[in-house]
Amino acid sequence: MILDSKIPEGPLEQKWKNYKKTAKLVNPANRKKLDIIVVGTGLAGSSVAASLGEMGYNVKSFCFQDSARRAHSVAAQGGVNAAKNYKNDGDSVYRMFVDTLKGGDFRAREANVYRMAECSLNLIDQAVAQGVPFGREYGGYLNNRSFGGVQVSRTFYARGQTGQQLLLGAYQALMRQVGKKSIQLFTRHEMLDLVIIDGKARGIIVRNLDTGEIERHAAHAVVLATGGYGKIYYLSTLAMGCNASAIWRAHKKGALMASPSWIQVHPTSLPQSGDYQSKLTLMSESLRNDGRIWVPLKENETRPPNEIP
Ligand SMILES: Cc1cc2nc3c(=O)[nH]c(=O)nc-3n(C[C@H](O)[C@H](O)[C@H](O)COP(=O)(O)OP(=O)(O)OC[C@H]3O[C@@H](n4cnc5c(N)ncnc54)[C@H](O)[C@@H]3O)c2cc1C
Repeated sequence: MILDSKIPEGPLEQKWKNYKKTAKLVNPANRKKLDIIVVGTGLAGSSVAASLGEMGYNVKSFCFQDSARRAHSVAAQGGVNAAKNYKNDGDSVYRMFVDTLKGGDFRAREANVYRMAECSLNLIDQAVAQGVPFGREYGGYLNNRSFGGVQVSRTFYARGQTGQQLLLGAYQALMRQVGKKSIQLFTRHEMLDLVIIDGKARGIIVRNLDTGEIERHAAHAVVLATGGYGKIYYLSTLAMGCNASAIWRAHKKGALMASPSWIQVHPTSLPQSGDYQSKLTLMSESLRNDGRIWVPLKENETRPPNEIP
């Protein structure tokens, strides 16, 4: 089996830049002739569908919620990182790249992490342009904070509901393209299978969750943006939909999957077993940074649901 991550050649910081410079472009007049299926309408799926629609491709967007904006991205709270260096505290694309690699226990693909750090700069501007109400200083400048143990302030946030606000922005961009008829939106549709022709993903089989009917959709390319699957574990802050259904079906059709145990865990989902339980101590630190006060529970004491952070 050949593991080819298709990372372009060249020095680390040039790999994706060079690829962008030399990648073949599709003539704008031809884009309407190309169909693209995007499964998932979270931050990943909504943004990619909206961007492809804006460029002129013929997009079909699928999700199993009753509205595209109910994807689980609404749950994200803390914020989104970008190496803007607004606080002049020594941040840079390179520093964000190194921090992210460290955070991923040095297992991430370096060129892709570098590209993510580079793209982070424009991502904030795009979200602001979409109307995301990020927290601001009194002078009107975008505020940011140090988050997740990093030494610099690079986290942009919208109170404790960053994911929801970002998703509303991405959803508006998606719905604009739905209005312009470049995207057809299929809510309440679950992807049941991936169609592979000559080794390439060319379509999907879905179930209409309202009628129960099984449908097939063909395209020149399929984008899977179906989110995380932390719900395979009993204790999780993820919603029931984060269930690996799409990714598992793609895997059964030959897509390779690495490090399946690398899922996001929030300490809040763990029952407290004592005052010194390390995960909850960690959470109490981040809550203090957030300006709220965390009082550890005494033995056999339960916390009222409205006080659970
Ligand atoms: C409580 C919480 C807090 C978080 N806080 C932060 C934070 O502060 N900062 C940060 O950067 N990240 C945070 N995250 C992580 C971040 O929210 C997620 O990584 C990100 O939102 C995932 O986006 P996504 O578009 O990939 O997936 P999702 O938003 O989960 O979207 C998945 C989409 O795929 C669709 N789908 C899935 N399976 C199928 C199927 N079989 N058929 C059809 N459709 C399907 C769903 O309908 C949905 O539309 C947090 C996550 C949680 C749960």
